[in-house]
Amino acid sequence: MKNGSYSFEILASKRVDTPNRQEELVEATVALIVDLKRSVKIIEGRFDSDSSIVDELNVDIEFDKSLNIKDNLEVLPLTVGVGVPGLVARDGSLVFAPNLRRVSGLRFKEKLEGQLDCHVVIENDATCAANCEFRFGVGKGQKSMLMVTLGTGIGGGIVANSQIFHGESNFAGEIGHMVVNPFGPECSCGKKGCWERYASGSGLGRIGREAGLARKAPKIVELAGGDAESIKGEHIIASAQNGDTQAVEIIKEFSWWIALGLSNLANILDPKLIVIGGGVVNSHGVWLDFVREAFADLVEGVSVRDRINIEAAKFGIYAGAIGAGLFSAEEILI
Ligand SMILES: [Zn+2]
Repeated sequence: MKNGSYSFEILASKRVDTPNRQEELVEATVALIVDLKRSVKIIEGRFDSDSSIVDELNVDIEFDKSLNIKDNLEVLPLTVGVGVPGLVARDGSLVFAPNLRRVSGLRFKEKLEGQLDCHVVIENDATCAANCEFRFGVGKGQKSMLMVTLGTGIGGGIVANSQIFHGESNFAGEIGHMVVNPFGPECSCGKKGCWERYASGSGLGRIGREAGLARKAPKIVELAGGDAESIKGEHIIASAQNGDTQAVEIIKEFSWWIALGLSNLANILDPKLIVIGGGVVNSHGVWLDFVREAFADLVEGVSVRDRINIEAAKFGIYAGAIGAGLFSAEEILI
């Protein structure tokens, strides 16, 4: 890695929700285009700047089933970074994606480079989010940080000794599949009782549906159109925001499950900071304080260790897209 001064501008970014499992389309990707222009300096391999980050789209990057996206671009990218949920090998293949089974095994990098005719980097989406928050967000200046993305599943990104930790096969940070209850509900990965079955956006919906079916959450059922089976995370959050005490109880239970996983991870990694992002982060006002409270009860030696801060991602749901772009720019520039 050489020292030097380079610059680039982020031209566009796009975050796409992971589709539900019935659909299983390829759209569950985040992408970002960067072009060499101005405003970001790399000093000793690290980005350090107030680069203008455009989260308003001027292009619409949709990944259709054939991955034919070039025609939708109004700008010619120099490089594209894409964050995807799952195990991404070093060659840019998505080797296993529990929540996107149909594209597991796809040679993403090769395919996109062929279509876009430019350099492409594919990385795990939570690792990308960690990259963004560590460089520009709430983790800026921290030596150790754990990024946790709560959405359809749970993703993780680890910063150790001021560097992203990728692991031996590039698969580090699959924290959502940490088993918290071996007798728990089945997970899309094939195991039982994974953390993401409890503490993700879908996990919240599942806890809410159980409460609804047990007739413990009439207001939430009402919000979901009268059908307990239709309850999703957003119905519970909306009901809690409306002052529904039963919804608040469900939020507390959900927060406890988040804190349980975070405390396990904190016991292993001892980070200074835990950053929470992903699709659920927009509602952090409803649950983050409950998570902090439960975390203090669960983490080892809370009275004798330095405080571990738990914060919402500065770049919210866009952290993954921006981090992916930074990874791709870095490969070209350094
Ligand atoms: Zn799992």
